[in-house]
Amino acid sequence: MQKVDVVVVGGGIAGLTAAIYAAKAGKQTVVIEKQERLGGRAISNKKKRAYFNLGAHSLYKGDAYATFRELGLTLQGKQPSAFAYGVWKGKLSALPSDMKSLFTTPLLSWKGKMEFASCLMKLMKADTHPFDRISIREWVEGNLRDPMVRNIFYSLLRAASYVVGPDLPAAGPVLKQLQNALKGALYLDRGWGALVEELRTKAADLGVRLLTNTKVSSVDIRGGIVRQVLCEDGTKINTRHVILATPPAVANDLVPFAENTALRTWKEQAIEVNAACLDVALNRLPKPKQQFAYGIDQTVLFSNYSRAAYLSDDGAQVISLIKYQGKDTDADKDLHELEGVLDLMQPGWRDELIVKQYLPRMTVCHDFMHLKRLENPGPAVPEIQGLYVAGEWASHGEVLVDAATASAKRAVQHMLSLEDKERNAQYEHRGVI
Ligand SMILES: Cc1cc2nc3c(=O)[nH]c(=O)nc-3n(C[C@H](O)[C@H](O)[C@H](O)COP(=O)(O)OP(=O)(O)OC[C@H]3O[C@@H](n4cnc5c(N)ncnc54)[C@H](O)[C@@H]3O)c2cc1C
Repeated sequence: MQKVDVVVVGGGIAGLTAAIYAAKAGKQTVVIEKQERLGGRAISNKKKRAYFNLGAHSLYKGDAYATFRELGLTLQGKQPSAFAYGVWKGKLSALPSDMKSLFTTPLLSWKGKMEFASCLMKLMKADTHPFDRISIREWVEGNLRDPMVRNIFYSLLRAASYVVGPDLPAAGPVLKQLQNALKGALYLDRGWGALVEELRTKAADLGVRLLTNTKVSSVDIRGGIVRQVLCEDGTKINTRHVILATPPAVANDLVPFAENTALRTWKEQAIEVNAACLDVALNRLPKPKQQFAYGIDQTVLFSNYSRAAYLSDDGAQVISLIKYQGKDTDADKDLHELEGVLDLMQPGWRDELIVKQYLPRMTVCHDFMHLKRLENPGPAVPEIQGLYVAGEWASHGEVLVDAATASAKRAVQHMLSLEDKERNAQYEHRGVI
């Protein structure tokens, strides 16, 4: 039997971030991860000397970027050029991404060009919170008139959120994410696995114990207070604080009588976002100028990540394609569509192929700020003292990895402020204050 101050269940980005902040506050902390490797969905795999993430991953200038910088991570990589094509009616056309492409794009009329430019400029400075309670569709239809400008905005907002339809996501958080994306995304050298490695090193340097290959089976709660974490291999750890950095359904399953707590609401209100991911490493690009494309009438995205990041030890070009999925999906059809986009962007790519990875259905996030949400999850599970949640699904308005880091910090902050209150109450009780 061991005893620590904080147990973090799940060693993805949320779990590692929570552990680092807990350790920085002087707490003896353990992370328990069921997989062999830390990192969760942010791992990278090396295949034939090319680094593949689990699908396209870009780091925007939001909470995660600021947090990693605050922690002193190097985040090696570069910002890609914003020049982009749009896929419309099976053809490629330049999208308005700078003055030249704005004036030359055949996709927009003169009036459409003016509307697009003025809306983008306004959006860059806008407070997005007033749009937290309306859908993306309501925002687009209420703010844009030109049909093609609307189509392009739908496409940009889909890429920012990974959500295929415009009726569910709350517009405010996605518009904020688009603002962050317009400030420039970072493509990381050696993929997001390098970021996980930096977090792992930071955690280890701060004295966090990292247990991998260890699956937590339940959290023992007595009298409404966290007591112990139990693992499938028999490991038991006594603790007063548990941060569940797992998906919401797992968090719910780990806690006895979770049906009487907010964990049940958070699990039931969650709407998963999924994507089919095709990644290829090519010897060279058949069309070197065609590096990035948004689908306008197709729910796809194409990006050559090697245009900004070191992703291969022998100069191969690593390209990621995403097919944003709704509820009904067909793995073969999605692959066919993604290969069709590759044919359009890089005709002859099959002759240059070194290695390919196809992930037919990846969960990009387990929940997000949508209009059917009853409440924002966490940071604390109100019915159980010492129990907290973190993860990209525990968003309070942040999107994707920004929600993972923000929720992790919220959980630790909440834990520390409760401890402060308890300590002050004890002093008051003893008449010290
Ligand atoms: C295809 C794809 C593209 C993406 N693109 C972007 C992007 O461009 N930008 C962006 O910001 N974000 C992106 N994301 C999202 C980003 O990857 C996630 O937000 C982030 O990695 C989530 O981290 P997390 O720690 O919340 O969850 P996870 O990474 O899922 O970590 C949860 C961990 O808990 C562990 N676990 C579960 N149950 C147990 C148990 N019982 N005991 C012990 N451990 C357990 C799991 O093994 C896992 O390691 C993308 C995701 C995908 C899939």
